[in-house]
Amino acid sequence: MSIAPFAPSSPAASRRGDCGPAATPRHAEGGALLPVVGGELRVPLVGGGEARYANLDYGATAPALTTVAERVTRVLPYYGSVHRGSGLPARVSTALYEQARQTVAAFLGAAADHEVVFTRNTTDALNLLADAIPAGAGQVVFLDSEHHANLLPWRRREHAAVAVAPTLGETRARLRAALAARPTALLAITGASNVTGELLPLPELVALAHDAGARIAIDAAQLAPHVRVDLAALGADYLALSGHKLYAPYGAGALVGRRDWLDAARPWLAGGGAVREVTWEGTDWHEGPARHEAGTPNLLGAVAIAEACATLDALPSGALEAHDRSLRELLLARLERIDGLRVARIWVDSEAAIGTVCFAVDGYAPGHVGAYLSAEHGVGVRDGRFCAHQLLGRLGLPGGALRASFGVGTSAADVERLADALARLVREGSRHAYAPGPDGWAPLGDDRELPELL
Ligand code: PMP
Repeated sequence: MSIAPFAPSSPAASRRGDCGPAATPRHAEGGALLPVVGGELRVPLVGGGEARYANLDYGATAPALTTVAERVTRVLPYYGSVHRGSGLPARVSTALYEQARQTVAAFLGAAADHEVVFTRNTTDALNLLADAIPAGAGQVVFLDSEHHANLLPWRRREHAAVAVAPTLGETRARLRAALAARPTALLAITGASNVTGELLPLPELVALAHDAGARIAIDAAQLAPHVRVDLAALGADYLALSGHKLYAPYGAGALVGRRDWLDAARPWLAGGGAVREVTWEGTDWHEGPARHEAGTPNLLGAVAIAEACATLDALPSGALEAHDRSLRELLLARLERIDGLRVARIWVDSEAAIGTVCFAVDGYAPGHVGAYLSAEHGVGVRDGRFCAHQLLGRLGLPGGALRASFGVGTSAADVERLADALARLVREGSRHAYAPGPDGWAPLGDDRELPELL
């Protein structure tokens, strides 16, 4: 791990205007890749005025794609009970739900022996998988740098938490040693770090796991919205994702992967829909996805994820990755010129990354910077420890950091506004005074009006 300090800022880095409404045309050079709901949202600034909201917090949760919201609106008149009911809406809803399963499977290149279980989110999916590992199958190996969702479920079982090393090479060697040390059921790994955006070399890790006789699960909460994944080509066994990070914020996620463990496991939830027959003597549970989907399914969540998959699928090959790359390069180039701003990296030798950048500003609490960006510039980022407390400690940032994360609705103008605002903070300080409160840092005497919605 290292925190690379950057060179002193050049005056040119901070000359641009910052918080005015940006009028970048969509699909044009530097514009957003796809329209999202709320892409033109305007937010009040402290002390008066307003700005178009620059959402640089996609890593926490992403706005709905316009196509997703439109699809949900079209489905709503037919909304009915999935797998329960004889009315036409119930039949349409059942067909839509099962169709969504197929769309998600196709989008992720699921193999013939894989199934798609709809869950609430990635956390739910990984907990389900942790519960489905057969008794006696061996330990679970994971890095201690993982998001808590890909760390805490495994700590309930026999496990080996491998200390992440400063290079990818050494990290791989440590994983290999842990896999060889004891019989291993599963290597659980994140596809893309939710803190730094850095990508893990998945093909090599799949081979590492399989060579040790273990299966591999990919936490794709951050990966799936940024990088196309083909599970069958990769040979990976399981993948977990969240709809709300994949432009489908309607409360569903998915676990995709090999059917045998899932069919043999106890149902994740016990209840209606997961059973073939209930008698006084016992319960005959379904096999297949229904086994783990007790209760009324989240039709709109599933439909939304499927529509997001279809929309991303229709993009020209490489467009998603190229959009990310150009915005990341722009942001890093701008941040590099800001004195006292440090960008965090886990591995000195990692090259590929998604559109997520973690940084700290010398002399400022992360919460202070986050509140300043929002209140004075209408820019939204995340501050804190990103549900990865151990990693932040390893990065030398035990008190937290800032994270800018972007996606298909982000334009170059959004990134420039963040960089301009940070340069200005370092150069001139904030215009307002800020203090930490029960809900985090906020401007003193905050006079911004909240929307009528509240
Ligand atoms: N894994 C990673 C890498 C994440 O970034 C997140 C969310 N921040 C999760 C898992 C958990 O996702 P969710 O909160 O949607 O369950």
